[in-house]
Amino acid sequence: NEVVSKNFIEVEIEKDLAEGVYDTVHTRFPPEPNGYLHIGHAKSILLNYGLAQKYNGKFNMRFDDTNPTKEKVEFVDAIKKDIQWLGADWEDRLFFASNYFDQMYEAAVKLIKKGKAYVCDLTAEQIREYRGTLTEPGKNSPYRDRSVEENLELFENMKAGKYADGEKVLRAKIDMASPNMNMRDPVIYRVAHMSHHNTGDKWCIYPMYDFAHPIEDAIEGITHSICTLEFEDHRPLYDWVVRELEYPHPPRQIEFAKLYLTNVVTGKRYIKRLVEDGTVDGWDDPRLVSIAALRRRGFTPESIKMFVDLCGVSKSNSSVDYAMLEYCIREDLKMKRSRMMAVLDPIKLVIDNYPEGEVEYLDAANNLENEDLGSRQIPFCRELYIERDDFMEEPPKKYFRLFPGNEVRLMHAYFVKCVSFEKDENGNVTVVHCTYDPETKAGSGFTGRKVKGTIHWVPATFAVDAEVRLYENLIDEEKGVYNEDGTMNINPNSLTVVQAKLEPALKDVQAYDSFQFVRNGFFCVDVKDSRPDALVFNRIVSLKSSFKL
Ligand code: ATP
Ligand code: MG
Ligand code: MG
Repeated sequence: NEVVSKNFIEVEIEKDLAEGVYDTVHTRFPPEPNGYLHIGHAKSILLNYGLAQKYNGKFNMRFDDTNPTKEKVEFVDAIKKDIQWLGADWEDRLFFASNYFDQMYEAAVKLIKKGKAYVCDLTAEQIREYRGTLTEPGKNSPYRDRSVEENLELFENMKAGKYADGEKVLRAKIDMASPNMNMRDPVIYRVAHMSHHNTGDKWCIYPMYDFAHPIEDAIEGITHSICTLEFEDHRPLYDWVVRELEYPHPPRQIEFAKLYLTNVVTGKRYIKRLVEDGTVDGWDDPRLVSIAALRRRGFTPESIKMFVDLCGVSKSNSSVDYAMLEYCIREDLKMKRSRMMAVLDPIKLVIDNYPEGEVEYLDAANNLENEDLGSRQIPFCRELYIERDDFMEEPPKKYFRLFPGNEVRLMHAYFVKCVSFEKDENGNVTVVHCTYDPETKAGSGFTGRKVKGTIHWVPATFAVDAEVRLYENLIDEEKGVYNEDGTMNINPNSLTVVQAKLEPALKDVQAYDSFQFVRNGFFCVDVKDSRPDALVFNRIVSLKSSFKL
């Protein structure tokens, strides 16, 4: 008997359905096209899409492009790509709020005619003064009692471009003494002589978010308008707008807490600064948590869905550890990806008793836990690469890898025993010499003796060169994201680039292909910089986990 737990939004939706408030579920994701989406937006996307799916409803994609200042077509395309990648399918329901400007204007006229809106000549500063404070009621604007006729004429003049920016606004006539500041005659239309990416110069007045958003939802037949907690105080205004406009099936706003990750930068202006000063290589730098960055790093949509599900939906703000996201990608990839051999910090290993020029091909399962991934053949020869730290001249206790006199298994191959080594003039080991025992071939059933260490390797003559990028958190985790002066605590070691040697099966990889490199983590071919003759891999995540579920 499975315990099915519902989040509080599902509880509310089911109540609405049971009581007949709505007979269907229709959600939307309404980004402003003013930047790239990040992991927090992914939560909202998957939540809204998931609810529509769960209740057999519909999901709309809507660009909330009512503010002409910051919006760009570039972002529209990037956002669509990210949402598609996440698997949220809006089918044929792609909308732009700016296509509703005529209806919003008509809605404002309707409010004026009902005596529920007025044109106000106070300056922005005066409006603020008149608004009062949390402890003191506001004062009515001297323009509050203009006649309907005068308001209609002035509002038409606003639309016709007769006033400069800021000269006049349209305000909802609600209650200057309301304990909720948002209800103290909020501005619903402003004059702004600006070109809009969609409507061009048609409009010089633009609706404010609190007025526009409920109208957008109502026009599209949205039932549950899910947004984040900072809009809780705006809900009475949302309800006022849909009520006064007399929509037959008014939508309902429900708020949930934003997703925050610890020690991660999501703020647009901070990322912009990092991009501009060259700390990161664009909005999709793999150290960032924009959806584009996560995709480039090698995260999968499935891993992000798992993460968002694990985080749950709540009414109180909290931060989630980045390690939980890492846990999810490891879980997703461990059975799905081939486990290949790649040496990140190579030194030579020479098998002195292996015939020079000879090559044999060894069978290797691609993933011992998933037979469906098949197997490959790895060439084996006299000279190999191994990791520098898999050899020690003077090993500490419990070091079971190579040191003079010690024997280890070469993964998928033979036992080798270290017989000597060479150093350069600086004392760095350059070559490790071993002998191998032909009896010990992997798969031969050899049981004569045991070794405690198994190390990976790459055949030197067949090795593929690749640049491998290793990442640490962009932010110095000890210090937190921001200093008091607003600067960021950047970790100077957030990126390490190494020249690695890969087994030859990795020669023909494509952008976004990902693999486990045994013992070193999961890696993904970089979409921006990798070339067929100059491969670049990003480490998605190491294999070691600090997160426990
Ligand atoms: P940011 O300033 O981080 O870009 P935003 O709220 O300005 O966030 P919008 O484009 O307005 O971004 O957001 C689109 C939707 O995504 C909104 O419904 C918003 O509430 C939701 N959203 C934004 N950030 C988060 C987050 N961290 N967690 C969950 N949902 C979020
Ligand atoms: Mg935004
Ligand atoms: Mg916003």
